[in-house]
Amino acid sequence: MNKDKRIAILSRLREANPTPTTELEFSSPFELLIAVLLSAQATDVSVNKATKGLFAAAPTPSAMLALGVDGVKQHIKTIGLFNTKAENVIKTCQILQDQHGGQVPENREALEALPGVGRKTANVVLNTAFGWPTIAVDTHIFRVSNRMKFAPGKNVDEVEQKLLKVVPAEFKIDVHHWLILHGRYTCVARKPKCGSCIIEDLCEFKEKTE
Ligand code: SF4
Repeated sequence: MNKDKRIAILSRLREANPTPTTELEFSSPFELLIAVLLSAQATDVSVNKATKGLFAAAPTPSAMLALGVDGVKQHIKTIGLFNTKAENVIKTCQILQDQHGGQVPENREALEALPGVGRKTANVVLNTAFGWPTIAVDTHIFRVSNRMKFAPGKNVDEVEQKLLKVVPAEFKIDVHHWLILHGRYTCVARKPKCGSCIIEDLCEFKEKTE
């Protein structure tokens, strides 16, 4: 795909949704970190249902530590992998408390050192809580980037590097949300909704649906 087409796609996505953001509900970097940690292999809707009560009971690392692993489990047991996630939440809170003064560090290395936090989660937190131009590649972004030939790559790391290279600076902060939302609601996995896609004329997928 050439540069002009990519810019046209991004411009159109921006026009349709000028201020995109995550569908996870949060009111602080700490809540965003925990919500993203819980969202692995779970929908944002299911995470939001669980975090409503969890964040009301424990909006800070120290309050989460007071809740303990079993207390966290009570709030998140409707989410997949809740046992491991509850343990990671508590271990993460302990590190935040001991090493970062109870704050979420604005630092990739420190974020990736937290239990249950990988590159993707760190990218989301750096982007959405701190405004860094990082691009977290999840299953939706991976699929959409390859399908449209927007930023093809064999794995999520390759797609991330390609996106960082080809997306102009003015679009970098928001591209992650535009592509996720496009993949979640229009360019869906099984049968993309090409007939109602706002970038259909620009997309280079060869097997478009009606
Ligand atoms: S035209 Fe179809 S394949 Fe291309 S981006 Fe739109 S929904 Fe996806």
